[in-house]
Amino acid sequence: MTLSIRPDLDDLPVYVPGKTFPGAIKLASNEVTEGPLPSVRDAIAEAASNANRYPDNGMVALTGELAKSLGVTEDEIQVGCGSVTLCQNLITITAQVGDEVLFGWRSFETYPLATRVAGATPVQIPLTEDLVYDLDAMAAAITDRTRLIFVCNANNPTGTVVDAADLVAFLRKVPSHIIVALDEAYFEYNRLTPEQAYDAIELRKEFPNLVVLRTFSKAYGLAGLRVGYAVADPTVITALGKVHIPFSVNSLAQSAAVACLAAGDELLARTDAVVAERERMTAELRTLGYRVPDSQTNFVWIELGDDTTEFAAACVAAGVVIRPFAGDGARVTVTHRQENDAFLAFARRWAARG
Ligand code: PMP
Repeated sequence: MTLSIRPDLDDLPVYVPGKTFPGAIKLASNEVTEGPLPSVRDAIAEAASNANRYPDNGMVALTGELAKSLGVTEDEIQVGCGSVTLCQNLITITAQVGDEVLFGWRSFETYPLATRVAGATPVQIPLTEDLVYDLDAMAAAITDRTRLIFVCNANNPTGTVVDAADLVAFLRKVPSHIIVALDEAYFEYNRLTPEQAYDAIELRKEFPNLVVLRTFSKAYGLAGLRVGYAVADPTVITALGKVHIPFSVNSLAQSAAVACLAAGDELLARTDAVVAERERMTAELRTLGYRVPDSQTNFVWIELGDDTTEFAAACVAAGVVIRPFAGDGARVTVTHRQENDAFLAFARRWAARG
């Protein structure tokens, strides 16, 4: 029996996250290792006790708190079930069959997958030699079928960022009707140099086609609850609202995110420790001879080429789960010293294996 499932999905790969096992150190998904703060747990518990009710579909409390903290109006914010859903919904509101969605590659794996799910065509522009988004090449690749552009800054999985002047020059080149989604999932881990520094929320004043994507999954530690947000022009937010799956941001996620914002200083202070560890890991890995670009995230990228699969398998055998991208390299989450040291011990053994 052949069921009427879209044949173009036949060769679409399934998203495969890093696999883990009991007792493993999991450095595969860019999570924080610590559980939620007591105040956030309390908010989750209280929301759980009302789980018989549907969540607030308007996500009013969280939207209000985000608007306040970002200095924007509530009609410029859309909360979603993880920022991955907002990536998908941006594709849904912009691209139809035959349209093009443009982004750098290698980058966040959802971009090509969600584009293909929409029946649109992914246009993937290779990163520069330095593993940075090649904005000149991307500008040159814009066609009259381009409907949406993703700029992943910092880029997953390489951790790299573009220079601010290059970003602004690029935005000036993009026709003003094309939405540019600036994916800042790792924003809270950015410690940008003066050349790299920009304020995405400010940039929206000059570029109303700019959409900023952020998440509570990383620095705020709510990966398991699924909540992210977009900051955009109200016309974009209205369209995103139309394709939002009703009640898809559950009440535990909404309450936890509000509590995280209230505890923002304490949570963001944790990012300093991760940044210090990131710099230590980068330096140590380079000393061992690995090629590791500067990262502005809570992970590091190790270029391993054809050795990637073997490296990752040996690392897993040593009890540390990382995220390999066959033929390219491995992404390793930076957490606290003890976990990072477990990975470094493996990397040292691998480098010395002769
Ligand atoms: N964008 C980027 C660049 C990411 O790395 C991720 C998570 N891997 C996301 C978006 C999605 O995050 P979430 O759906 O957990 O908010």
